[in-house]
Formats: sequence, structure tokens, C-alpha cells
Amino acid sequence: MVRDDRYGELGKRFEQYLLEGIPALKEAGYNPFAFQGMIRASGGVRTAKQLLASAGDTSYGFAKLWEKGKLDASVEFAVCLPWFKELFTDEELERAAFRLTEHRFDLSRIDDVPVPDWHAAPTPAPPAEPTYRQRVEAEEAAQRSRPATTTALTAEAVRSAVFRSLVLERAQGRCENPGCGHPGFHVIGRNGQPVVEVDHVHGLGDGGPDHPANMVVLCPNCHAVKTRAQDAEVARLKALLAGIARQQHETAMAGTSSGR
Ligand SMILES: [Zn+2]
Repeated sequence: MVRDDRYGELGKRFEQYLLEGIPALKEAGYNPFAFQGMIRASGGVRTAKQLLASAGDTSYGFAKLWEKGKLDASVEFAVCLPWFKELFTDEELERAAFRLTEHRFDLSRIDDVPVPDWHAAPTPAPPAEPTYRQRVEAEEAAQRSRPATTTALTAEAVRSAVFRSLVLERAQGRCENPGCGHPGFHVIGRNGQPVVEVDHVHGLGDGGPDHPANMVVLCPNCHAVKTRAQDAEVARLKALLAGIARQQHETAMAGTSSGR
């Protein structure tokens, strides 16, 4: 059997469609012996192309199907199915459609053919994980709608667990201080979480906001330096980390994934 794989998967599907239509041809009182032989010899797509190329005139099979009012079983009809169109040239498609309309076939009947599963639109993807931006905005909205009495408690009480985990995810649990003495520091603690601290660059007690744009992940060493070093060093580090926090936040806001 000569198999022409030039038309790929779609070509195989077209051929399959023609072969599945053979019983309908027989029902229409036409013995498609020659047609089957062509498919065996040349494959479905080339058979269709050969039939379409045959000097303007319609094939014996086509005439037979027309007599029986079964043009929807014709190769021309198969060629016109939208999901097979890319196998054929514009000229071939026009010729197929012309032969059908010339024989008073209503081309809109093509729309009645159920779209095959393999051509149907892919099932919609499951809802995507909310992005960093979506989670930040949801938390901001939730905070706005919370009664003021709750947020008037101590700074300790208003720390958002959502923001904290977003910042940890954003940093992938690693120290965000570019001058870190332990770059890539990554130790998992007893609680299964990385041994790092989520730090508010400008402390809540000093009026710094509890917001990811003011939060960084620091390794224990950097965190100790930031909280316990002399004023000048703390100020230098704060200025540096303020930029990092804002930049990391903006990059994550612009991204499409929450980093999970
Ligand atoms: Zn560090």
C-alpha cells in the first residue's frame, strides 16, 4: 500500500472520513470500487486532488451521487468541510464548492455536519492560579472592607498573612539583600519553611505600611544586621532594601504568575 504521509495527521483524518463514507456510497447504489482503489493507491488527499483536477467534468461517482440526492457523500463535500480546508489549494476548494453549487447543492448543509472532537475548540483551561497582582489586589480590597476597629489594633495585629506569604513566594524563600553575605542562603526549618525573615523595610512602628512594596525577605544574618547594626549601616541598608522591595513588588505585579 502506498502511503502518502505528506499531509500528516490531518491527511489521515481526511482519508478516514472518506473511508467511513464508503457504506453511504454503496447505499446510494454506487459501487465505489475504483474510488477505494484510488485511496489505497494514493491516499485520501491525493485521491481527492486527482478527482478535483479531472478536467472540469465531474466524476462518475459524483454524477451517481447527484442522481441519488446524496452529494453530501461526495469527495467534493468532504473537501469543503472547514476542518479539512488546509489540505487543499484555494483553486481546489473553489472547484469543489463550484461543482456542488452547480448541482444545486445547498452548501449551508456543511454547517449541519457535527464538528469532529479533534477539531473542536480545546476545552477551556482550568481557571489559572491567581497571579501575584490578583492576590495583592484581593487582599487590599479585603482590608478596605474590614471594619476600622480591627485595623486600629496594634501594628502586630494588622500584619497581613497574605502579604507575608506573597513576599515569601516572590523571593522563593531566599534573602533579597543584594549585598547578602550568604547569597542563595536556603535552609529549611523545623516548620518546613525556609529559615528567613519577612521584614518591613520601614518598620510598622515607624509608620511603614504593611504592604508587599515595603516588605523584603532577609536571611537571619541580614535581618540581624538591619535591626541591630549602627544607625548609618541600618540607614544604608534600608535605602537599598526599600528600592529592592519596590522593584520586586513591581516586577511581580507585572508578571503573570504568582511564582508558585
Ligand atoms: Zn542575607
